[in-house]
Amino acid sequence: MINEESTLDQISSFNRGIVQRNPAEFEFHQAVQEFTESVMPFVKSNSKYDDGHILHRMTEPDRIIIFRVCWEDDSGHINCNRAWRVQFNNSIGPYKGGLRFHPSVTQSVLKFLGFEQTFKNALTGLPMGGAKGGSDFNPKGKSDREIMRFCQSLMIELSKYIGEDTDIPAGDIGVGGREISYLFGQYKKLTGRFVGTLTGKGLSYGGSLIRTEATGYGVIYFTGHMLGVINETLKGKKALVSGSGNVAIFCAEKLIDEGAKVLTLSDSGGFIHDPDGIDQEKLEWLKDLKFIKRGRISEYVNKYPNAKFYKDERPWKIKADLAFPCATQNELDKNDAKNLIENNILLVSEGANMPSTLDAAKLLQDAGVIFAPAKAANAGGVAVSGLEQSQNALRIPWSREEVDGRLKQIMEHIHKQCVEYGSTEEKSINYVKGANIAGFVKVADAMLAYGIG
Ligand code: NDP
Repeated sequence: MINEESTLDQISSFNRGIVQRNPAEFEFHQAVQEFTESVMPFVKSNSKYDDGHILHRMTEPDRIIIFRVCWEDDSGHINCNRAWRVQFNNSIGPYKGGLRFHPSVTQSVLKFLGFEQTFKNALTGLPMGGAKGGSDFNPKGKSDREIMRFCQSLMIELSKYIGEDTDIPAGDIGVGGREISYLFGQYKKLTGRFVGTLTGKGLSYGGSLIRTEATGYGVIYFTGHMLGVINETLKGKKALVSGSGNVAIFCAEKLIDEGAKVLTLSDSGGFIHDPDGIDQEKLEWLKDLKFIKRGRISEYVNKYPNAKFYKDERPWKIKADLAFPCATQNELDKNDAKNLIENNILLVSEGANMPSTLDAAKLLQDAGVIFAPAKAANAGGVAVSGLEQSQNALRIPWSREEVDGRLKQIMEHIHKQCVEYGSTEEKSINYVKGANIAGFVKVADAMLAYGIG
């Protein structure tokens, strides 16, 4: 008991230090707190990590690059945005992590994402360090030419800090195939080199099959393993999915593939509930709506009148077996968690990064809900980005089956690591603890091997 109390004190004191050194960076505080709560007891019982002051060193990014991005809109006005690249940790490989374009992007958001990315990438077993970048630029409502001019302007500065052996950016919220193509085209022009410095590229210029689908598919492969532990399968289960972007759409697709019934999808305007289930035909219509026409989820009910649109609401009050938050950070709070628990949800698997608030995640776990943290469940995206790098370096593209097979193996490997470090005395698996400690060990061992630096 005394030991437990002193570890709790050490966690609080460590996190007070984080708050003091990183004032007003609330998302970053949240990510570090979640991590230290599971990792600190492990560090305290392993003197090599404790003596090496490793947690302190790990929570400082290697560097943060901040720059101005000026661009001209279609009416000739000059606009100015701020952009960042947070190169968090390259102990186990070159920096790797997405770029996000959204008005809510701040240094705090990118630090939390870069920190999480470091351990997620370690879990994949591939040699990738952690980074994240982006801008407070809002792509919504912009013409293709405006997006192009913004991407080209951003790359003029970003190109100085990235490279196929240094830092390899990819997509994230607001950065899909269109943006990666503009960014890669400009990088190629500026450097005169055709190398795999960005991932998520088009298939005819270095992209990998399955990359678009990888994050969503990976979430479902991981979820299948979690259900396997309790002798359950996805077949026949009712599922709530939030978001309607890259992660959400392909999470829904794999759920449908596995015989589950997808009841909801959402965007920042609200959510749709289709009691008949969203089948593959409806999903194809949605892909066209969201990826080609760049429409809103509310339009679904005009096409499928049995469904209902809930303006400005989130899907977590609908009764189902499984929940997949796939939109953005902190989209599932304490009240949402209470609703899910009251409705006897069996499992929550995080497709987005840190979609559950700290108290929501705790409530769910305390109630016995099987809970997969983002850094384990959504690692499939970056894993296939790593496989895209391998194909670029080999100059040989792999088949769909080859990439999908490797993705499945990687998600199984991540699940095994969670079981290794997260199995409890009560014979259940604490996936948060398992993922955090497994990721930590890999990065920490590399940092210690390099000495002090
Ligand atoms: P997209 O931009 O493709 O889609 C994001 C979706 O989330 C959209 O439906 C968007 O709605 C919705 N959304 C964004 N902000 C909010 C908000 N504040 N409230 C409600 N809904 C919101 O992004 P991705 O699908 O790529 O990313 C989703 C999440 O998954 C992010 O957390 C990202 O970091 C994470 N992730 C992504 C990976 C990838 O490979 N793409 C890999 C691993 C994690 P709207 O259109 O209205 O803004």
